[in-house]
Amino acid sequence: MHSYPDARSVVRDLVPDEPVMLNRPHAAARAAQFFAQRFPGTTMYAVKANPSPDLIVLLWENGIRTFDVASIAEVRLVRALLPEATLCFMHPVKTIGAIREAYHTHGVRTFSLDTLEELAKIVEATSASDGAAAEDLNLLVRLRVSSEHSELSLASKFGVDLVDAAPLLQATRQHCDALGICFHVGSQAMTPFAYVQALDRVRAAIAQASVTVDIIDVGGGFPSAYPGMNPPPLEDYFAIIHRHFEALPISYNAELWAEPGRALSAEYSSVIVRVEKRRGDELYINDGAYGALFDAAHVDWRFPVQALEDDLTQPLADFAFYGPTCDDADYMKGPFDLPADIQADDYFEIGMLGAYGAAMKTGFNGFGAAQAVVVTDEPMVSLYTGTRQEPKRSDNVVSLR
Ligand SMILES: *Cc1c(COP(=O)(O)O)cnc(C)c1O
Repeated sequence: MHSYPDARSVVRDLVPDEPVMLNRPHAAARAAQFFAQRFPGTTMYAVKANPSPDLIVLLWENGIRTFDVASIAEVRLVRALLPEATLCFMHPVKTIGAIREAYHTHGVRTFSLDTLEELAKIVEATSASDGAAAEDLNLLVRLRVSSEHSELSLASKFGVDLVDAAPLLQATRQHCDALGICFHVGSQAMTPFAYVQALDRVRAAIAQASVTVDIIDVGGGFPSAYPGMNPPPLEDYFAIIHRHFEALPISYNAELWAEPGRALSAEYSSVIVRVEKRRGDELYINDGAYGALFDAAHVDWRFPVQALEDDLTQPLADFAFYGPTCDDADYMKGPFDLPADIQADDYFEIGMLGAYGAAMKTGFNGFGAAQAVVVTDEPMVSLYTGTRQEPKRSDNVVSLR
């Protein structure tokens, strides 16, 4: 992949007619090292946030050895790239065929579930041809927890309710080598207290079921920085999770796992777009709801933006965007702050699209082509450069940008 110093040099060199994805391998490497070194347990990468093969290999090279996969296609993808990686199939609703292939062909030993029916499927699909039950399963029961502290809920679809958890935990215990409890507090959890609440519920589930628990998996939800969303430092999350994990009534050698998607991938990518038309404070641009800006359209997520033209002199003003398709829903209300004199043919960069941005692109309406290049400058925002407020002065080793 061709490498450039920054977005402006890409625009100068390519004058691109279509959006250009900018990838920053150094930023993803830094995030991976941060989790690998500082999270007090095992970090797995939730592949759905961004399944780019380059990113998956990069995370592996920077210390992430375990991958949270949710479909058989993700299992095959990661296994083909990384024969040695540990894969955990963390979607609580799987087909028998997917479980069978994952277990027998790709060496997957870890599965999540939230019903007795799913447990029965896993037991059947992992047994040997003579009917002998697998003895090497790690089974994690997904507990429903609150999403109230997160920007995107994951509370309604999956997870057994606390009142129904005991029989499921007891039944699962009979079929596994290691028993775990997992949950997801919702994506972009804005306070570590979200995990405290969830771990309290885990404590209650363990007490009611009286089972030995070997794995606590706190899921994803670790935040990134976006306009209007400035979460506390990740170190605070790690410290608080660790403290509450240690206080649980679990086996003495129990393991702590996490499944960050967003936090490992958000800073990896941004996109260069071009203004095709301006109508008042609305900019018609060449990427949108069916491209990398799904969340900007569907949940009004705001992303950082910066103009890439030297001749824009006016102060910043609020803009909304229309994407390139003919669909009225291809609209992103923002507000996004760009120079007030921006106009058709001007380029700008939209940042923090590595998570749930690049992964969401479709070819709807003939749009969606985008070439990708590497850039070596810093992302517009970073949780990992030390430029944010650190929790302790002793940690405050910063290189000023
Ligand atoms: C989506 C998902 C993740 C990743 O969540 P983030 O908020 O991106 O960290 C982790 N685990 C499961 C089960 C998921 O569905």
